[in-house]
Amino acid sequence: MPLHAPRRAALRAELVARDLDALLVTDLVNVRYLTGFTGSNAALLVAADGEERSVFCTDGRYVEQSAVEVPDLERVVERACDLALAARAGKDGYQRVGFESQHVTVDGLDALEQAVDGLVRASGLVEVLRAVKDEAEVEALRMACAAADRALVDLIEHGGLRVGRTEREVARELESRMLDHGAAGPAFESIVAAGANSAIPHHRPTDAVFKLGDFVKLDFGALVDGYHSDMTRTLVLGRAADWQRDLYDLVARAQAAGRAALTPGADVRAVDAASRQVVAAAGHGPRFPHGLGHGVGLRIHEAPALSKSGEGTLSAGMAVTVEPGVYLSGKGGVRIEDTLVVRESAPELLTLTTKELVVV
Ligand code: ZN
Ligand code: ZN
Repeated sequence: MPLHAPRRAALRAELVARDLDALLVTDLVNVRYLTGFTGSNAALLVAADGEERSVFCTDGRYVEQSAVEVPDLERVVERACDLALAARAGKDGYQRVGFESQHVTVDGLDALEQAVDGLVRASGLVEVLRAVKDEAEVEALRMACAAADRALVDLIEHGGLRVGRTEREVARELESRMLDHGAAGPAFESIVAAGANSAIPHHRPTDAVFKLGDFVKLDFGALVDGYHSDMTRTLVLGRAADWQRDLYDLVARAQAAGRAALTPGADVRAVDAASRQVVAAAGHGPRFPHGLGHGVGLRIHEAPALSKSGEGTLSAGMAVTVEPGVYLSGKGGVRIEDTLVVRESAPELLTLTTKELVVV
């Protein structure tokens, strides 16, 4: 696969810079990113000194699948892939073998130490590479976002958002309509929150019935080729009250400020602050109790975190969400969320559903 060899080459440069002879990759999402393998058991040993010394491992269930998905690496078949490749690293004479310490349990580390000497903690190396998407990844994200956009259009056009329906019914319909538009599944458990429930940031859909004048907050996404989309829209049923229009307008302005702050080199905390200060200036600071956004890709939440406690700066090619919310307990809340790609010029918007207040 021409997509994956350049990613392994970028990782090898990181290994050389850290004076590591190899990296044992055991996180399945990282293995997928570096090889294209989509099965449920695998590991990868990336050698610093060359592609031809790197080894992929999976078990007997995936012999045929891995021959198709990973045609360009030496493949070994073992059940305990991490241990097999650790032993291989010892046999190949590596002195400093990095391992993904953020994904290894205490018991797992004991077993690895039995298999090879010279283990070095090396957390987050692949995750840092994954934060900056290549164009194939952006295309998968674009398709995932389009599936969600189209599902929402269908839902509204078929009268799916109306008084008398329940949160659970609408969540199920949204998810099934995403499948109609090419999603392999939902990217995460969809949030559908009506009326006062919309003030709960991560409300789980219930049998609560939609009523006239309710806010309906929909936070959902599609999974395409392993990539996740993430979008929130908040609508009103029937007729919007003045307080609802005011609240919506405030969150829309905060969201626009966050999007405008997405520039290469921007500190992630400054991006969060750019949006948060709009909410604070309106006196609602405490009612925006979560971070502004997160990276999105092979996982629904990945680096970078756009929040007060986030670290680092943005780079062109990073895919992130911008999702401020203001929640008035017992009354209702608004969140507006897009998935975007940081670009040298303006950020590229992937979730294209309107952000005007929609009253259905
Ligand atoms: Zn979301
Ligand atoms: Zn999100």
